Amino acid sequence: MSTADRTGEPASRASRASAISAEVAERLAYPPRVINHMMRRDLAHVVLPGCVLLAAQHSVDGASDSCSAVRANLQAAFERLPARPDNLFQGTTGTIGAVLAMRRFDFSDSLVQPIIESGCNWLRHQARKAVNSYPFPKLQRSQAAPPESYEAISGFSGIGRLLLLAAEQGQSSADAELRSILELLTELFTPASGESGISSSLWGESQLPVGTAPRVLATGVAHGLAGPLAFLSLSLIAGRYVDDQPEAVRSLGTYLAALRSVTAHSWPTAAAVRDAVDLPGYIPNHGWCSGSAGIANAIHLAGLALGDSSLIREGIEGLSLLDDIPVEEWGVMGSALCCGYSGVLQAATNAVCRADDPRLNSLVEKAAQAVLNSWDEDSPFGFPRYVDGKRMDTADLLYGASGIALALHDYAHGASSWSSLLLLR
Ligand SMILES: [Zn+2]
Repeated sequence: MSTADRTGEPASRASRASAISAEVAERLAYPPRVINHMMRRDLAHVVLPGCVLLAAQHSVDGASDSCSAVRANLQAAFERLPARPDNLFQGTTGTIGAVLAMRRFDFSDSLVQPIIESGCNWLRHQARKAVNSYPFPKLQRSQAAPPESYEAISGFSGIGRLLLLAAEQGQSSADAELRSILELLTELFTPASGESGISSSLWGESQLPVGTAPRVLATGVAHGLAGPLAFLSLSLIAGRYVDDQPEAVRSLGTYLAALRSVTAHSWPTAAAVRDAVDLPGYIPNHGWCSGSAGIANAIHLAGLALGDSSLIREGIEGLSLLDDIPVEEWGVMGSALCCGYSGVLQAATNAVCRADDPRLNSLVEKAAQAVLNSWDEDSPFGFPRYVDGKRMDTADLLYGASGIALALHDYAHGASSWSSLLLLR
């Protein structure tokens, strides 16, 4: 849905969101200004990928000076590479991801072209290093798969999503590495014959001494099972798949769908072996990263990838149920993409593009209003972050103003390619 399709209160909300997003883009257009606000300027590579994306998003809407803002931020980001920490949103991988996820920017541009080429080589190298260091196949592994190996933020699902983005941009140089990652994840998430749900080797049951508490796996899209589910589903939808991949998607999707607690309207943030009940100390969380918004989206994608109507229904139902819950009870903190309101907004905005459900539309409006309520015009970037009562002005994609402004932009104008970085599309 775009600003033009709305009427009444949603229309004025959308135009306010659009204006605020443009205002933040203007405040983040000049890298030295952003970096001067950082307590640690050596971590500029953490904020620049988000600034690149926000500038690129506004450049296609004809905002003045935005092409020069894209170039200034790209240049500043590129000058700082290689950089650590490195993951889907920061450092070398984060910068390459931002370039690959830019919408309709000129990829033959003299600045962008070499970044794409060397970026794809970097990703191929990262993928090969990760795959080669991984015990394979699972029957020969001596230990359970560590979640950080397959997760989205810094594991196979995230690198795989970037390689898939590269393939979608017409870069075929990384096809072999994309295939290796698909084979590895498929193998990891296909239960052995006689098993259902999740392979016992993933739980590491056989390595646990008798009487040990069972292993717990995160469920969310950032660090848990919904990450590989989203990536394997997206690649299936894109026509990139290996043998048994549909079976892995079905098995993992069905397992995650069954975990939703109907009374709490949400998924547990972690699952214990063969146990669908909430863990002690569990707090309902509906955020993108570790809660319902990201998990429901992954299940919806799985349903679409397989043409499975019950998974499709579960994905929409799991997300639209949030519309029945007051925003204060979503278990999120602040307005950021990670753990905050704009993460729920971005998940709902993407879901609405795929399913025109009235409750999803209502959820989008609710989440957008919650984000807009945290606009603070007098702060440097408009959306300060509060940690233990202490204010921080940060511009990064996951926790800062660039990500929030991107979510507001997409709310007003429709979901677009940068959501790939969140594995929402
Ligand atoms: Zn988070």
